[in-house]
Amino acid sequence: MNIPFNKPPYTGNEDQYVLAAMRSSKMSGDGDFTLRCQSWFEDALGGTKTLLTPSCTQALEMAALLLDIQPGDEVIMPSYTFVSTANAFVLRGAKIVFVDIRPDTMNIDETLIEAAVTDKTKVIVPVHYAGVACEMDVIMDIAARHNLYVVEDAAQGTMSTYKGRPLGTIGHLGAYSFHETKNYTSGGEGGLLLINDESFINRAEIIREKGTNRSQFWRGMVDKYTWVDVGSSYLPSELQAAYLYGQLTVAEEINKDRLNTWNEYNRCLSGLSDKLVLPFVPQDCQHNAHMYYLKLDDLACRTKFIEEMKKEKIMAVFHYVPLHSSPCGKVFGEMTAEDKFTTKESERLVRLPIWYGMQALERQRVIEAVSNVLERI
Ligand SMILES: *Cc1c(COP(=O)(O)O)cnc(C)c1O
Repeated sequence: MNIPFNKPPYTGNEDQYVLAAMRSSKMSGDGDFTLRCQSWFEDALGGTKTLLTPSCTQALEMAALLLDIQPGDEVIMPSYTFVSTANAFVLRGAKIVFVDIRPDTMNIDETLIEAAVTDKTKVIVPVHYAGVACEMDVIMDIAARHNLYVVEDAAQGTMSTYKGRPLGTIGHLGAYSFHETKNYTSGGEGGLLLINDESFINRAEIIREKGTNRSQFWRGMVDKYTWVDVGSSYLPSELQAAYLYGQLTVAEEINKDRLNTWNEYNRCLSGLSDKLVLPFVPQDCQHNAHMYYLKLDDLACRTKFIEEMKKEKIMAVFHYVPLHSSPCGKVFGEMTAEDKFTTKESERLVRLPIWYGMQALERQRVIEAVSNVLERI
């Protein structure tokens, strides 16, 4: 029996809603299911305004448009992240300024951010790796003192909190992903823009509706709709929203199930902690078990580990190649100061299989394989 790295979350609860969307008279954006998902999040997130998008990438692109990023503006982020974190701002002409990560959480090192701020800096983009929060109090304080915006890339952070506050609701804007590799999916691809500063709401609706005031028109606030701003098509189909809604109604169950697997991994592998480094979750952070990773001695050791796990028919996978050393990252970005941990730590990291509904036996096989493989390498 092969153990894949991921299975897209599926509960069975999605079917009824997807069928209802298929049979409804409105399948395009902002139908009943889109509004139901947004209401669900707005309740769960304590009143933050949310807009469903076709992907997290597009939610981040909306953020860059909303903040009026201009050529030459600088955006601070970790190099250890997905390309979309950077691309969304590069598309607007920004220069990306990469800051090193902390080796314990793999998140941006908040103590290095202030030194990277220049008079061109516009935005800080913390990425909550593995659904474990960045040190947001420090980041928000730097932003306030330098008059910067904060966009949280909380793609992996749905259901996680920092000091009791949901990730994505702390900065000015935030973004979630519902890609099939994330904890909740809207049928393969999907995302959410979180708007925590009310002054962005009106324009966000316009940008999302191809630069028109159609949302206001539907609400009867204007008598015709027209082209009023730049924009694009950032509305998901109702099929996507319906699929996601089926998961939101059992969101806590999905979260508990993943945490159960994560905790079991952590309990069983802590006995091997002389051979590896296990994930670290700071006191103030409640995570969502998005990912379970290990860190081995170095790149060679990790490569061997992945090969040996494959022989055990288990897919363990590495993660980001740092953006600052990628071909495009060299053109559009620059690492500030020293790369003390980004490259070194990224080369050591390997992720173990985890998904909603993972069976105890599957988990057991992974744990046994890890301990066997560590004996051999
Ligand atoms: C998954 C992910 C994204 C992109 O999400 P999509 O929904 O696939 O566009 C962006 N940033 C991070 C950190 C991610 O993990």
